[in-house]
Amino acid sequence: MDVRIPKKMKAVVCHGPHDYRLEEIPVPQVGDGDVLVKVKACGICAGDVKSRAGASMFWGDEIQPPYNKPPVVAGHEFFGTVVALGKGAKEKHGLDIGDTVTAEQIVPCGKCRFCRNGSYWMCEVHNIHGFQREVADGGMAEYVRLSDRDIIHKVPESITGYNGAIIEPLACAVHSVERAQIRFGDVVVIGGLGPIGLLKLQLARLKNPGLLIGIDLREKRLELGKELGADIVLNPLEDDVKQRVMEVTDGYGCDVYIHNTGNPKGVIQGLQILRKLGTFVEFSVFTEPTTVDWSIIGDRKELNIYGAHLSPYTYPIAIDFLAKGLVKGEPIITHSFPLEQWEEAFTMAEEGTESIKVVLVP
Ligand SMILES: [Zn+2]
Ligand SMILES: [Zn+2]
Repeated sequence: MDVRIPKKMKAVVCHGPHDYRLEEIPVPQVGDGDVLVKVKACGICAGDVKSRAGASMFWGDEIQPPYNKPPVVAGHEFFGTVVALGKGAKEKHGLDIGDTVTAEQIVPCGKCRFCRNGSYWMCEVHNIHGFQREVADGGMAEYVRLSDRDIIHKVPESITGYNGAIIEPLACAVHSVERAQIRFGDVVVIGGLGPIGLLKLQLARLKNPGLLIGIDLREKRLELGKELGADIVLNPLEDDVKQRVMEVTDGYGCDVYIHNTGNPKGVIQGLQILRKLGTFVEFSVFTEPTTVDWSIIGDRKELNIYGAHLSPYTYPIAIDFLAKGLVKGEPIITHSFPLEQWEEAFTMAEEGTESIKVVLVP
């Protein structure tokens, strides 16, 4: 195949909150163990939108600095074709020129306590494509360099169109749903039907719950939730969610609540509608702190509260489910834009009224 690689490329570069720019930058050089990938598409994540908006972490009254370390090429939901392999990369990653690949969003340091005990997704250094440049840039560019520390997965031909860009969020969704330990017959509620919520909904369906309920504020997303397997969809702007959930659970509440909205109201809603001894999985990134009476968790309901972060060991499952059509990416990827229209694409992803998942196509 023809693998002529230009010297320069277009990329969406994050220079800090509120300062993303389309730039022409050098195509990265491959060093030992590196892989150069020509990007086919890169999804815009809620994390990208929040990074651009300057999202910080709250720790009591103390606000942590933004999590991106500029300058860095944005984007972690990318896939593409291998066009160059550094020395030893073919053996190290088991790849050939022309393979279609994606890489896990985190590039583990391999040295910290978490990496060494196998909990690489919680790596203390925490370099993620598109947020921290120390090891590698992101995929909102014509090319992305993957390092020898990257965890690279082949994308089979049966994953068509831009569906390769949904592997990362799907892998995260798999982890969240696994954390929920859904049992046959459970009443499962998915709070928030954005891209990741709709993926979790499809995955939760595969667990054969007794009843699958989706909650969102937008009618379009609720309709799609029904199409993708929800038995009941509820809109808190119109429905009394607590009352409806109690009606269908003989007044006990749901067994499992998986939360994705990033809105404190969604947390409180979950704590209200869960039954005693129920399970709450939190995946969201918030832009403000949540205030709630914690006695609900212990004294009142003895809940299981599980966090979920990234996608440990779940990329192969995500790829397999997409390849087999057990999870559908087409209804989720609603819009694609060329890199030049990144700003329009980000705005559309942020508003989320028209779109579910927006991808950039170099
Ligand atoms: Zn993502
Ligand atoms: Zn580490």
